This record gives sequence, structure tokens and C-alpha cells, in this order.
Amino acid sequence: MHELGILSAMVKTIETVAKQEQLQRIEKIVLQVGELSGVVPSYLESCYPAAVYKTFMENTALELEIVPGIARCNDCGAEFNAVACDLQCPECASQNLTALSGRELVIKEIQGC
Ligand SMILES: [Zn+2]
Repeated sequence: MHELGILSAMVKTIETVAKQEQLQRIEKIVLQVGELSGVVPSYLESCYPAAVYKTFMENTALELEIVPGIARCNDCGAEFNAVACDLQCPECASQNLTALSGRELVIKEIQGC
């Protein structure tokens, strides 16, 4: 599954950060997931226990922050939620869009001690 691979890569990234920051224990990680990132938040949540199983992050919590997928129409300048509008401008029906937000898939916070 796509999401499991993403999470496994993040576990490695977080492991590197935790060593640099000399964190003894991680309690929670916060991920920002954009609606246009192609990642399904509920899959991330259901894959998480498998991704951290037998790693130093076992028993940590995952918190997701969903970033709305906002786009601007390149033809008329309207700004709207691209996901809600089915990737089409609600004003002029153009599909010539620029994503303003919602593509992110980033580790926002690592809470540890
Ligand atoms: Zn438009």
C-alpha cells in the first residue's frame, strides 16, 4: 500500500531527527496532509501501527492536520476548494488551475522528550 511506504520513509526521517535532537522518547507526531497530496488520511491512520511496529516509534500517537486543497483559476482568477469543486473552476468551468495549498505531506511536529 502506498501509504505504508510513505509512513515507513517518515519513520526513517524522524529517526534521524530524533538522533540529531537527542530525543529519548517520542510521544506524538503531527503530519500535515494536503487534500491534493494523493494520500488518504484514513489509510495513513490505519497503516500507522504497522509502519511503526517494532521500531523506536512503536506506541507513539499520530495526529493528522488536513490542509484544504485550494486552487486559483488561471483564466478568471477565482479561488476555491479544488476538491469540493472536482478540480474545475466553479465560475468559468476552466480546468486551468494552480494549486495554492493542499499538496503538502510534511512532518509538522515531533513531540518527544
Ligand atoms: Zn475560472
